[in-house]
Amino acid sequence: MIEVRELTKSYGPTLAVDQVSFDANAGEVVGFIGPNGAGKTTTMRILTCYLTADAGNATVAGYDVLEHAIDVRKNVGYLPESAPLYADMGVVEYLKFMAEVRDLPKSQRKERINTVIDICGLEGVIQKDIGELSKGYRQRVGLAQSLIHDPPILILDEPTSGLDPTQTIEIRNLIIEMGKEKLVLFSTHILPEVAATCSRILMINQGEIVANGTLEELIDQVRSEERIHLVIRGPEEDITPELKALDAITGVSQSIMDNGVVTYEITTSQDGYEATSAIFRAAQQNSWDLVELRQETIDLENIFLHYSTGENRSPSNNTEPSTDVSPAEEE
Ligand code: ADP
Repeated sequence: MIEVRELTKSYGPTLAVDQVSFDANAGEVVGFIGPNGAGKTTTMRILTCYLTADAGNATVAGYDVLEHAIDVRKNVGYLPESAPLYADMGVVEYLKFMAEVRDLPKSQRKERINTVIDICGLEGVIQKDIGELSKGYRQRVGLAQSLIHDPPILILDEPTSGLDPTQTIEIRNLIIEMGKEKLVLFSTHILPEVAATCSRILMINQGEIVANGTLEELIDQVRSEERIHLVIRGPEEDITPELKALDAITGVSQSIMDNGVVTYEITTSQDGYEATSAIFRAAQQNSWDLVELRQETIDLENIFLHYSTGENRSPSNNTEPSTDVSPAEEE
Protein backbone atom coordinates (compact mmCIF):
# COMPACT_ATOMS: atom_id res chain seq x y z
CA MET A 1 0.00 0.00 0.00
CA ILE A 2 2.96 2.27 0.54
CA GLU A 3 6.03 1.90 -1.66
CA VAL A 4 8.95 4.21 -1.10
CA ARG A 5 12.03 4.13 -3.29
CA GLU A 6 15.21 6.08 -2.61
CA LEU A 7 13.38 9.12 -1.37
CA THR A 8 15.76 12.01 -0.77
CA LYS A 9 15.10 15.48 0.56
CA SER A 10 17.39 18.30 1.68
CA TYR A 11 16.64 21.62 3.31
CA GLY A 12 19.50 23.77 2.03
CA PRO A 13 22.65 22.07 3.30
CA THR A 14 20.72 19.70 5.62
CA LEU A 15 20.17 16.25 4.14
CA ALA A 16 16.97 15.34 5.99
CA VAL A 17 16.01 12.13 4.14
CA ASP A 18 18.69 10.10 2.40
CA GLN A 19 17.61 7.48 -0.16
CA VAL A 20 14.89 6.06 2.04
CA SER A 21 13.20 2.91 0.72
CA PHE A 22 10.56 0.73 2.35
CA ASP A 23 7.21 -0.96 1.76
CA ALA A 24 4.23 -1.14 4.06
CA ASN A 25 1.15 -3.25 3.55
CA ALA A 26 -2.47 -3.45 4.60
CA GLY A 27 -3.01 -4.86 8.07
CA GLU A 28 0.31 -3.59 9.41
CA VAL A 29 0.98 -1.14 12.19
CA VAL A 30 4.41 0.16 11.29
CA GLY A 31 6.33 2.11 13.91
CA PHE A 32 8.60 4.69 12.35
CA ILE A 33 11.16 5.30 15.03
CA GLY A 34 14.21 7.50 15.33
CA PRO A 35 15.60 10.37 17.38
CA ASN A 36 14.42 13.92 16.88
CA GLY A 37 15.75 15.24 13.60
CA ALA A 38 16.07 11.74 12.05
CA GLY A 39 13.80 12.54 9.09
CA LYS A 40 10.47 11.05 10.16
CA THR A 41 8.30 14.12 9.69
CA THR A 42 9.94 14.96 6.38
CA THR A 43 9.25 11.44 5.07
CA MET A 44 5.65 11.56 6.27
CA ARG A 45 5.07 14.98 4.76
CA ILE A 46 6.33 13.70 1.40
CA LEU A 47 4.03 10.66 1.63
CA THR A 48 1.05 12.89 2.36
CA CYS A 49 1.91 15.32 -0.48
CA TYR A 50 2.72 18.29 1.77
CA LEU A 51 6.34 18.29 0.63
CA THR A 52 8.07 17.35 -2.60
CA ALA A 53 11.08 15.06 -2.58
CA ASP A 54 14.27 16.09 -4.38
CA ALA A 55 14.75 12.55 -5.73
CA GLY A 56 13.26 9.09 -5.54
CA ASN A 57 9.58 8.24 -5.66
CA ALA A 58 6.73 7.01 -3.57
CA THR A 59 3.33 5.53 -4.23
CA VAL A 60 0.56 5.47 -1.67
CA ALA A 61 -2.47 3.24 -2.28
CA GLY A 62 -1.08 2.78 -5.79
CA TYR A 63 -0.92 6.52 -6.54
CA ASP A 64 2.27 8.43 -7.17
CA VAL A 65 2.62 11.18 -4.57
CA LEU A 66 3.80 13.70 -7.15
CA GLU A 67 1.35 13.01 -9.93
CA HIS A 68 -1.81 12.02 -8.07
CA ALA A 69 -1.83 14.06 -4.88
CA ILE A 70 -5.63 14.25 -4.74
CA ASP A 71 -6.01 10.48 -4.96
CA VAL A 72 -3.29 9.99 -2.37
CA ARG A 73 -5.07 12.32 0.04
CA LYS A 74 -8.38 10.52 -0.49
CA ASN A 75 -6.72 7.33 0.66
CA VAL A 76 -4.73 8.72 3.55
CA GLY A 77 -5.66 10.10 6.92
CA TYR A 78 -2.85 12.30 8.22
CA LEU A 79 -2.27 13.50 11.75
CA PRO A 80 0.49 16.08 11.54
CA GLU A 81 2.86 16.57 14.48
CA SER A 82 0.99 19.64 15.62
CA ALA A 83 -2.46 19.17 14.21
CA PRO A 84 -3.92 22.46 12.97
CA LEU A 85 -6.96 22.52 15.21
CA TYR A 86 -8.99 25.69 15.40
CA ALA A 87 -9.31 26.62 19.07
CA ASP A 88 -12.55 28.57 18.80
CA MET A 89 -14.37 25.93 16.75
CA GLY A 90 -16.66 23.42 18.41
CA VAL A 91 -15.62 19.76 18.13
CA VAL A 92 -18.54 18.84 15.88
CA GLU A 93 -18.25 22.03 13.86
CA TYR A 94 -14.57 21.23 13.21
CA LEU A 95 -15.34 17.66 12.16
CA LYS A 96 -18.07 18.96 9.82
CA PHE A 97 -15.55 21.37 8.36
CA MET A 98 -12.98 18.60 7.84
CA ALA A 99 -15.62 16.34 6.25
CA GLU A 100 -16.28 19.14 3.78
CA VAL A 101 -12.57 19.69 3.12
CA ARG A 102 -12.22 15.95 2.50
CA ASP A 103 -15.02 16.15 -0.04
CA LEU A 104 -17.16 13.64 1.78
CA PRO A 105 -20.61 13.42 0.11
CA LYS A 106 -23.16 15.43 2.14
CA SER A 107 -25.35 12.38 2.64
CA GLN A 108 -22.56 10.55 4.48
CA ARG A 109 -21.22 13.35 6.67
CA LYS A 110 -23.48 12.98 9.68
CA GLU A 111 -22.96 9.26 9.91
CA ARG A 112 -19.17 9.51 9.54
CA ILE A 113 -18.97 12.26 12.14
CA ASN A 114 -20.93 10.10 14.59
CA THR A 115 -18.70 7.12 13.77
CA VAL A 116 -15.42 8.95 14.41
CA ILE A 117 -16.82 10.52 17.58
CA ASP A 118 -17.57 7.00 18.72
CA ILE A 119 -14.22 5.48 17.66
CA CYS A 120 -12.21 8.28 19.26
CA GLY A 121 -14.29 8.47 22.43
CA LEU A 122 -15.34 12.10 21.96
CA GLU A 123 -18.96 11.81 23.18
CA GLY A 124 -18.19 13.64 26.41
CA VAL A 125 -16.73 16.71 24.71
CA ILE A 126 -18.95 17.31 21.70
CA GLN A 127 -20.40 20.43 23.30
CA LYS A 128 -16.98 21.97 23.83
CA ASP A 129 -14.76 24.22 21.79
CA ILE A 130 -11.42 22.69 20.80
CA GLY A 131 -9.58 25.37 22.78
CA GLU A 132 -11.20 24.09 25.99
CA LEU A 133 -9.94 20.52 25.55
CA SER A 134 -7.01 18.81 27.23
CA LYS A 135 -4.05 17.85 25.04
CA GLY A 136 -5.22 14.23 25.07
CA TYR A 137 -8.68 15.13 23.80
CA ARG A 138 -7.25 17.51 21.22
CA GLN A 139 -5.14 14.62 19.95
CA ARG A 140 -8.28 12.48 19.75
CA VAL A 141 -9.98 15.20 17.71
CA GLY A 142 -6.88 15.21 15.48
CA LEU A 143 -7.24 11.46 15.04
CA ALA A 144 -10.97 11.82 14.41
CA GLN A 145 -10.35 14.28 11.56
CA SER A 146 -7.75 11.92 10.04
CA LEU A 147 -10.39 9.17 10.02
CA ILE A 148 -13.32 11.23 8.80
CA HIS A 149 -13.16 10.00 5.18
CA ASP A 150 -12.52 6.39 6.30
CA PRO A 151 -9.15 6.12 4.54
CA PRO A 152 -7.43 2.72 4.26
CA ILE A 153 -4.10 4.27 5.29
CA LEU A 154 -3.30 6.34 8.37
CA ILE A 155 -0.09 8.33 8.73
CA LEU A 156 0.31 9.67 12.25
CA ASP A 157 3.20 11.90 13.24
CA GLU A 158 4.11 11.50 16.93
CA PRO A 159 0.49 10.82 17.94
CA THR A 160 1.34 10.42 21.61
CA SER A 161 3.76 13.32 21.91
CA GLY A 162 3.06 15.47 24.96
CA LEU A 163 0.40 13.15 26.38
CA ASP A 164 0.36 11.86 29.94
CA PRO A 165 0.72 8.09 30.49
CA THR A 166 -3.03 7.44 30.62
CA GLN A 167 -3.71 9.44 27.49
CA THR A 168 -0.75 7.72 25.80
CA ILE A 169 -2.18 4.28 26.52
CA GLU A 170 -5.59 5.36 25.22
CA ILE A 171 -4.14 6.63 21.95
CA ARG A 172 -1.97 3.50 21.59
CA ASN A 173 -5.05 1.34 22.03
CA LEU A 174 -6.83 3.35 19.39
CA ILE A 175 -3.90 2.81 17.03
CA ILE A 176 -3.95 -0.94 17.67
CA GLU A 177 -7.70 -0.98 17.08
CA MET A 178 -7.41 0.98 13.83
CA GLY A 179 -4.52 -1.22 12.73
CA LYS A 180 -6.89 -4.19 12.55
CA GLU A 181 -8.44 -2.76 9.41
CA LYS A 182 -6.04 -0.15 8.13
CA LEU A 183 -2.39 0.31 7.39
CA VAL A 184 -1.08 2.56 10.14
CA LEU A 185 2.33 4.22 9.86
CA PHE A 186 3.13 6.23 12.94
CA SER A 187 6.25 7.95 14.13
CA THR A 188 7.66 8.14 17.60
CA HIS A 189 10.98 8.71 19.32
CA ILE A 190 9.88 6.65 22.31
CA LEU A 191 11.19 3.11 22.00
CA PRO A 192 8.75 1.13 24.17
CA GLU A 193 5.91 2.67 22.19
CA VAL A 194 6.80 0.59 19.15
CA ALA A 195 7.12 -2.60 21.18
CA ALA A 196 3.66 -1.98 22.63
CA THR A 197 1.92 -1.08 19.41
CA CYS A 198 3.61 -2.20 16.19
CA SER A 199 3.70 -5.27 14.04
CA ARG A 200 6.81 -3.92 12.33
CA ILE A 201 9.53 -1.44 13.13
CA LEU A 202 11.20 0.92 10.73
CA MET A 203 14.22 2.61 12.31
CA ILE A 204 15.58 5.82 10.85
CA ASN A 205 18.71 7.66 11.87
CA GLN A 206 20.21 10.74 10.24
CA GLY A 207 17.89 10.39 7.27
CA GLU A 208 18.69 6.74 6.56
CA ILE A 209 16.65 3.62 7.24
CA VAL A 210 18.90 1.56 9.51
CA ALA A 211 16.59 -1.35 10.31
CA ASN A 212 13.31 -2.79 9.10
CA GLY A 213 11.62 -5.84 10.60
CA THR A 214 9.49 -7.25 13.38
CA LEU A 215 10.76 -6.75 16.92
CA GLU A 216 11.68 -10.46 17.05
CA GLU A 217 13.65 -10.23 13.80
CA LEU A 218 15.57 -7.21 15.00
CA ILE A 219 16.31 -8.86 18.36
CA ASP A 220 17.52 -12.04 16.62
CA GLN A 221 19.97 -10.07 14.55
CA VAL A 222 21.33 -8.26 17.59
CA ARG A 223 21.47 -11.50 19.56
CA SER A 224 24.31 -12.64 17.28
CA GLU A 225 26.58 -10.55 19.46
CA GLU A 226 25.27 -10.70 22.96
CA ARG A 227 27.10 -8.90 25.74
CA ILE A 228 28.08 -9.99 29.20
CA HIS A 229 29.02 -7.71 32.06
CA LEU A 230 31.63 -9.16 34.43
CA VAL A 231 33.25 -7.63 37.50
CA ILE A 232 36.14 -9.43 39.24
CA ARG A 233 38.53 -8.40 41.99
CA GLY A 234 41.94 -9.61 40.79
CA PRO A 235 44.82 -9.08 38.37
CA GLU A 236 43.53 -8.10 34.96
CA GLU A 237 46.72 -9.36 33.22
CA ASP A 238 45.96 -12.93 34.40
CA ILE A 239 42.21 -12.89 33.91
CA THR A 240 41.93 -11.35 30.42
CA PRO A 241 43.92 -14.15 28.66
CA GLU A 242 41.85 -16.80 30.43
CA LEU A 243 38.65 -15.11 29.29
CA LYS A 244 39.91 -14.75 25.72
CA ALA A 245 40.76 -18.45 25.67
CA LEU A 246 37.12 -19.42 26.25
CA ASP A 247 35.45 -20.69 23.06
CA ALA A 248 32.34 -18.60 23.37
CA ILE A 249 34.09 -15.26 23.79
CA THR A 250 34.66 -13.02 20.80
CA GLY A 251 35.79 -9.84 22.50
CA VAL A 252 36.90 -8.57 25.89
CA SER A 253 37.39 -4.99 26.94
CA GLN A 254 38.18 -3.98 30.47
CA SER A 255 38.26 -0.94 32.69
CA ILE A 256 40.15 -0.94 35.97
CA MET A 257 38.23 0.36 38.96
CA ASP A 258 39.41 1.16 42.46
CA ASN A 259 40.69 -1.49 44.91
CA GLY A 260 41.84 -3.93 42.22
CA VAL A 261 38.32 -4.40 40.92
CA VAL A 262 38.12 -4.77 37.13
CA THR A 263 35.02 -4.49 34.93
CA TYR A 264 35.00 -6.55 31.74
CA GLU A 265 32.60 -6.05 28.86
CA ILE A 266 32.49 -9.29 26.94
CA THR A 267 30.91 -10.11 23.59
CA THR A 268 29.96 -13.58 22.54
CA SER A 269 28.87 -15.09 19.26
CA GLN A 270 27.13 -17.93 21.06
CA ASP A 271 24.03 -18.12 23.15
CA GLY A 272 24.49 -15.57 25.93
CA TYR A 273 23.40 -18.00 28.67
CA GLU A 274 26.01 -20.59 27.62
CA ALA A 275 28.76 -18.01 27.49
CA THR A 276 27.75 -16.72 30.93
CA SER A 277 27.89 -20.27 32.33
CA ALA A 278 31.33 -20.81 30.75
CA ILE A 279 32.60 -17.64 32.42
CA PHE A 280 31.12 -18.75 35.74
CA ARG A 281 32.86 -22.13 35.48
CA ALA A 282 36.18 -20.42 34.62
CA ALA A 283 35.74 -18.19 37.66
CA GLN A 284 35.22 -21.26 39.88
CA GLN A 285 38.18 -23.17 38.42
CA ASN A 286 40.51 -20.18 38.78
CA SER A 287 39.10 -19.14 42.16
CA TRP A 288 38.43 -15.65 40.87
CA ASP A 289 36.89 -13.24 43.34
CA LEU A 290 33.67 -12.73 41.36
CA VAL A 291 31.81 -9.50 42.16
CA GLU A 292 29.22 -9.44 39.38
CA LEU A 293 28.30 -11.53 36.33
CA ARG A 294 25.31 -10.71 34.22
CA GLN A 295 24.09 -11.07 30.69
CA GLU A 296 23.02 -7.73 29.24
CA THR A 297 19.37 -7.88 28.29
CA ILE A 298 18.52 -6.94 24.75
CA ASP A 299 16.07 -4.10 24.68
CA LEU A 300 15.09 -1.66 22.03
CA GLU A 301 17.83 0.70 23.12
CA ASN A 302 20.49 -1.93 22.39
CA ILE A 303 18.81 -2.62 19.08
CA PHE A 304 18.74 1.03 18.14
CA LEU A 305 22.39 1.50 19.11
CA HIS A 306 23.33 -1.64 17.19
CA TYR A 307 21.67 -0.46 14.01
CA SER A 308 22.75 3.15 14.33
CA THR A 309 26.47 2.47 14.38
CA GLY A 310 28.00 2.59 10.91
CA GLU A 311 29.24 -0.99 10.63
CA ASN A 312 25.86 -2.46 11.46
CA ARG A 313 23.78 -0.40 9.13
CA SER A 314 21.88 -2.42 6.61
CA PRO A 315 19.63 -0.12 4.65
CA SER A 316 18.32 -2.85 2.38
CA ASN A 317 17.51 -5.11 5.30
CA ASN A 318 14.05 -6.56 5.15
CA THR A 319 12.93 -6.30 7.40
CA GLU A 320 8.17 0.49 29.75
CA PRO A 321 7.94 3.69 30.63
CA SER A 322 9.41 6.07 28.25
CA THR A 323 12.97 6.00 27.03
CA ASP A 324 14.27 8.14 24.24
CA VAL A 325 16.26 6.38 21.54
CA SER A 326 19.13 8.78 21.92
CA PRO A 327 19.85 12.24 23.15
CA ALA A 328 17.49 14.57 21.34
CA GLU A 329 18.94 16.53 18.49
CA GLU A 330 17.52 19.85 17.53
CA GLU A 331 14.24 19.56 15.68
P1 ADP B 1 12.04 14.09 12.78
O1 ADP B 1 10.61 14.14 12.38
O2 ADP B 1 12.61 12.71 12.77
O3 ADP B 1 12.29 14.80 14.08
P2 ADP B 1 12.49 15.98 10.63
O4 ADP B 1 12.05 15.33 9.38
O5 ADP B 1 11.58 16.97 11.28
O6 ADP B 1 12.91 14.86 11.68
O7 ADP B 1 13.88 16.71 10.39
C1 ADP B 1 14.97 16.12 9.69
C2 ADP B 1 16.08 17.14 9.55
O8 ADP B 1 15.65 18.19 8.69
C3 ADP B 1 16.52 17.81 10.84
O9 ADP B 1 17.90 18.04 10.79
C4 ADP B 1 15.73 19.11 10.83
O10 ADP B 1 16.44 20.11 11.56
C5 ADP B 1 15.72 19.44 9.36
N1 ADP B 1 14.50 20.22 8.98
C6 ADP B 1 13.22 19.80 9.12
N2 ADP B 1 12.36 20.73 8.64
C7 ADP B 1 13.13 21.76 8.19
C8 ADP B 1 12.83 23.01 7.58
N3 ADP B 1 11.58 23.40 7.33
N4 ADP B 1 13.88 23.81 7.26
C9 ADP B 1 15.16 23.42 7.51
N5 ADP B 1 15.50 22.24 8.07
C10 ADP B 1 14.51 21.41 8.41
